[in-house]
Amino acid sequence: MCCADVAGAMVCRMPDTLADLRALVADVRAALEDEALRGVVAEFSDEAPPEAVAVEASPRRATRPAVGGSWAKLADRAREKADTSVPVGAEGLQLIRDELGDCRRCNLCTGRSHIVFGVGDPSADLVIVGEAPGYHEDRRGEPFVGPAGEMLDKMLANVLGLDREEVHILNVVKCKPPENRNPLPDEVGACLPFLHRQIAAIQPKVILVVGTVALKALLDPSGGITRHRGQWGTLDGVPVMSTFHPAYLLRNPEGKRHTFADLKALGKRYDELGGRRTRPSPF
Ligand code: SF4
Repeated sequence: MCCADVAGAMVCRMPDTLADLRALVADVRAALEDEALRGVVAEFSDEAPPEAVAVEASPRRATRPAVGGSWAKLADRAREKADTSVPVGAEGLQLIRDELGDCRRCNLCTGRSHIVFGVGDPSADLVIVGEAPGYHEDRRGEPFVGPAGEMLDKMLANVLGLDREEVHILNVVKCKPPENRNPLPDEVGACLPFLHRQIAAIQPKVILVVGTVALKALLDPSGGITRHRGQWGTLDGVPVMSTFHPAYLLRNPEGKRHTFADLKALGKRYDELGGRRTRPSPF
């Protein structure tokens, strides 16, 4: 038998090699986990969160722990290396993408299906920066798809009154780390200059970083998201808000009310700075 219905997703192929078998196992695992997590992607609000469902977490593991010192150095080096004198908007982004090419600048290239460059309005007034592509993002070549993407879309729509197409979504690294682990400092160091250049091309009015890796890479090398969320920082003069990663909220719904408050503060600043929107703010 070569076909199986796994949680509504038809997995249809016969594994020929060990690599095929591994990919098949990853497909099945992702389909089952999605099914469980989708139950948590409820309306995003500041109301009392639902009970956390029993989902076996895919722990983010760093095989080499990143310490404050090394993060500080790599963040500084990335800023120095990044030539931010790029044309603005789509032209600048295309130039950066061309330069990235079939990138082999770090080991993450070996396990990727796609480079996940980023998505959204090339001149967006709000840029969102996450950590790294996961399984779904790697397959689709787009950041924040799957259950975490659905959660992000709800956060944007329900609290900020913005659609995914009105913002720009990026990650600190553009290739999927193996086993869902955190990107290592040398991988972040190789990819980060491109992120700085993308932000320079987009020229947002406000930035939102989600999760500790993005916080450390862009804002505070010794920071942790639990301590820093809800506070404003700046990156090259652009105000930056930090909050929990949508994937964290899927497994810890009690964090939603904090993220709700953080996004409300961000929305207020966005409107004060003249951020563009196609519909009125919900607040
Ligand atoms: S993660 Fe970034 S630096 Fe590393 S291979 Fe991918 S695109 Fe290149």
